[in-house]
Parts: sequence; structure tokens; C-alpha cells
Amino acid sequence: MKLLADQVAIVTGGTRGIGKGIAACFIEQGASVAIFGTNPERGNEAAKELQASAPEGQKVTFYQVDVGDAKQVASTLEQVYNDFGHVDVLVNNAGITRDSLLMRLTEEDWEQVININLKSIYNTCRGVIRPMIKARRGKIINITSVVGLMGNAGQTNYAASKSGMIGFTKSLAKEMGGRNICVNCVAPGFIETDMTDALNEKQKEAILNQIPMQKLGKPQDIANAVLFLASPLADYVTGQVLTVDGGMVMA
Ligand code: NAD
Repeated sequence: MKLLADQVAIVTGGTRGIGKGIAACFIEQGASVAIFGTNPERGNEAAKELQASAPEGQKVTFYQVDVGDAKQVASTLEQVYNDFGHVDVLVNNAGITRDSLLMRLTEEDWEQVININLKSIYNTCRGVIRPMIKARRGKIINITSVVGLMGNAGQTNYAASKSGMIGFTKSLAKEMGGRNICVNCVAPGFIETDMTDALNEKQKEAILNQIPMQKLGKPQDIANAVLFLASPLADYVTGQVLTVDGGMVMA
């Protein structure tokens, strides 16, 4: 039996990197997937590719939406419920960086990161919890970062958004505990994606020196952890932060 048989999942930022890895993993485990992103060309291409790997009866659809925009999210979610009928799993994965030391950090870069990484989860979660309460089940997984746990010079905006996600997750887990809705975070360490491709060799070497396993992770490593939390294997797990980082942060 597949872990997500007949389920419907939303993966924000599912058009590339970690999000696409999560979408592919969910499809392999029996789910239909709605992927959210801002770039229609990349999104439609990703949906086509993922659909080609999906067994008959499982659907993959791309929705063009800026997750930081409450109105766009509300109307897109309405469309998803019309198209799929139900949503069992929500993965808030979309995220950006706009790195700079605080002294040089512009208000625009502060607001954009907080809006897309943090306000987005208010937008999406508010839209799915009512139907999840009605269905008496649901899984919400928020992709934070080890940076939200330990901080990082040059990333006050990003770290604040990722720490904020953790507080949000624990609070919503407490609100939803009695409703059979589990809300958790996965905190990736450094994963090989376009986001980390932007780092120079010196930065990558400095990072590797902090990782006991001495290698970067792959999107599949994160997808495996998200799959666990989305599946019935984690039905009694809520309000947690699962760190997947080669041992970088040990609580
Ligand atoms: P990525 O840049 O490769 O992909 C980000 C995705 O988010 C893209 O699909 C992009 O289109 C989407 N996105 C960006 N802004 C959006 C918006 N306004 N509305 C909708 N979609 C939007 O990044 P990634 O490395 O795959 O990271 C995915 C998540 O994992 C992010 O939240 C990131 O902060 C987190 N993370 C990544 C790493 C890493 O090492 N790569 C480490 C820790 C945490």
C-alpha cells in the first residue's frame, strides 16, 4: 500500500529544487499534487514532467500564484478545491533569500522575505484548515531552515522568517491538536539546489566544515522527511521541527 494513496497534496514552490523533489516523492507514493509557483513556463514544464511519471488516475496541476499575496492564494485555493475536491496535505515550501548585512539591508528586502517566507503560511494555512477540520484530518508541513534555529550573518530577514515559521507551526499545532490535524516543520541544512548554487566555493567550503557528514544534502533527503510527516507513520507527531542537515545542528 502506498503511503499517500488517493490523497491530494499542495506543494508551494513545487516547480524546482526541494519542492519539486517533494512533489515527485508524493506522486510515487500515490498522491495527486497541486504545485504553486510564480513562473508559468517553469511551472507548466514541471507539471508536465511530473505528470509523465504519475500512474493513471493521479493528477498534477500547476497554479500560477504568488504565495505572499493573500487574495491570489484565496482564489487559487478555491480553484484547487474545485479541481481536486479535497486537500489532505499542505507543504509550505516556497521561499526566497535576499541576503545582506543588516546595515545594508533595505526595507524592501526585509519585507519581501517576510512576506514570501512567513506571511505566505498564514495565507495558505488559513485557507485549508476549515476544510481539514471538517474532514477531521490533515497534515501541514512547513519548510523552515537550520538558519531559523541557529541564525546566520547576512540573513537577519531570512532567519527571522524561518524562526517565525517555527513559532507559527507550534502554535497552530496546539490549536489543531484536538482536530486530528498535525502541523510540523522540516528544517533542511544545506541542500544542493539553485538556492545554494548561488554560493561561491569559499562559502561552500566554510559550510562543509560545519557539517559532520561532510556533504550537502539532496532534495530527496528532504522529500523523505516530508513524506514521513505527511504519511500515517507520523499520525501522532505534531508541533515538531525535524532537522535534516547531516548533523549540522544538534539540539
Ligand atoms: P529554490 O529557489 O530552488 O525554489 C524555491 C521555489 O519557491 C521555486 O519553485 C520558486 O518558484 C518558489 N517561489 C519563490 N517565490 C514564490 C512566490 N512568491 N510564490 C510562489 N512560489 C514562489 O529553493 P530551494 O532550495 O528548493 O528551497 C525550498 C525551500 O527550502 C525554501 O523555503 C528554502 O528557504 C528552504 N531551504 C532550502 C535550503 C537549501 O539549502 N536549498 C536550506 C534550508 C531551507
